[in-house]
Amino acid sequence: MSVNEQMVQDIVQGVMAKMQLGADVSGKRGVFQGMEEAIEAAKKAQKYIHSMSIDQREKIITGIRKKTVENAEILARMAVEETGMGNVGHKILKHQLVAEKTPGTEDIKTTAWSGDRGLTLVEMGPFGVIGAITPTTNPSETIICNTIGMLAGGNTVVFSPHPVATKTSIFAVNMLNEASVEAGGPDNIACTVEKPSIENSNIMMKHKDIPLIVATGGPGVVTAVLSSGKRGIGAGAGNPPALVDETADIRKAAEDIVNGCTFDNNLPCIAEKEIVAIDSIADELMNYMINEQGCYLISKEEQDKLTEVVLQNGRLNRKCVGRDAKTLLAMIGIQVDDNIRCITFEGEKEHPLIAEELMMPILGIVRAKDFDDAVEKAVWLEHGNRHSAHIHSKNVDRITQYAKAIDTAILVKNGPSYAALGFGGEGYCTFTIASRTGEGLTSASSFVKRRRCVMTDSLCIR
Ligand code: NAD
Repeated sequence: MSVNEQMVQDIVQGVMAKMQLGADVSGKRGVFQGMEEAIEAAKKAQKYIHSMSIDQREKIITGIRKKTVENAEILARMAVEETGMGNVGHKILKHQLVAEKTPGTEDIKTTAWSGDRGLTLVEMGPFGVIGAITPTTNPSETIICNTIGMLAGGNTVVFSPHPVATKTSIFAVNMLNEASVEAGGPDNIACTVEKPSIENSNIMMKHKDIPLIVATGGPGVVTAVLSSGKRGIGAGAGNPPALVDETADIRKAAEDIVNGCTFDNNLPCIAEKEIVAIDSIADELMNYMINEQGCYLISKEEQDKLTEVVLQNGRLNRKCVGRDAKTLLAMIGIQVDDNIRCITFEGEKEHPLIAEELMMPILGIVRAKDFDDAVEKAVWLEHGNRHSAHIHSKNVDRITQYAKAIDTAILVKNGPSYAALGFGGEGYCTFTIASRTGEGLTSASSFVKRRRCVMTDSLCIR
């Protein structure tokens, strides 16, 4: 088939898709009143996607990247306004990162064996319609990132977003479908419901046409998905410790850790949530944090007040999550300048502001007597999530010891946590890190089925 014929076929398919899939109810593309309707529309769209060339899929992805960059500021402002969480400037950067560094169709690779008995391929095929549950902390970033990867694999997706981020999630879903239609693809490559809820999530999880569920969120949702009886990818909670030993560049460690911790007000699940520092350098580290990196040292009494506000009766206060340090300090009656970006104190590892995953710029420091003690404390603080951990050390043997002991999907050495997402570090970006089910940093190749295609006794031309 010549290139022109292929292009004509793609355009015709796009037009047919638009004619046959019907309009959604809210005026926004891909948004439906009921979950059943959303799944049905995504199913029809998937048939079109699967019949299109890979080149055409990639064109849609290129359109999504472009629109994400164009709408980065709108999406960032909308998410901060709607959820009350995070930082507009940092959210713009997160959208740019998703647009530029989420892998597309190039991530889907075929494996081949050829020899005397013929040719065997393992090819990656789509699951069909994937059900995806998304968090409040990176609402549109996760929706866009998931859609690029799932579409690259030939799937379409139905989202069940967190109700707190409904408006932002609907804006993102509409934008994704606009990009598809403008690139000659079908409407409804990504679908959702007007009013997201746990009930709608449950309908999606039990639906016969959803063979794979991808959950990005806290422990509750990951457990729900893994109990659904379906194949599940579970991207759950973390509580990443940053370990600092005496061989590190202490001044740089202070800068990197505070930069990582305060990025988007500590919302990323990979962000530094506490520090474990070896005794001999702990004071020096705190000194740099307080005097050069905008950290505010709180007293024992202030720690107690903050604990009461942040963990009301032991439950995480949603009104504190993703708020900046100035706002959090104001909640306990402390007024500070804009240059204060993080709250710090020294405490035992069991201190609730250290042991809990708070998702706000509070960085407690736990002192360790030596490296072995530091590793033990950091492993305890990670709570077996096997999600993310960080280390500042120049001793390769120690880094190896820590990596083996903590066994996380992500381990950043001598840099801020966001380097793990390809921001100031090598590698691709994702907003779904499946530590619990083992896929690690998900991408298109996480959302496909392996299929073996065998030709016996021919096609080997060696
Ligand atoms: P959350 O667990 O409150 O909500 C996440 C999603 O799950 C939402 O869409 C919510 O509606 C849904 N949900 C919650 N309980 C459910 C249940 N029982 N059944 C069906 N759906 C359910 O989390 P959040 O506050 O939105 O996000 C923060 C959490 O997510 C943190 O723990 C953070 O570490 C984690 N997170 C992990 C990753 C990752 O890639 N591993 C990425 C972002 C956030």
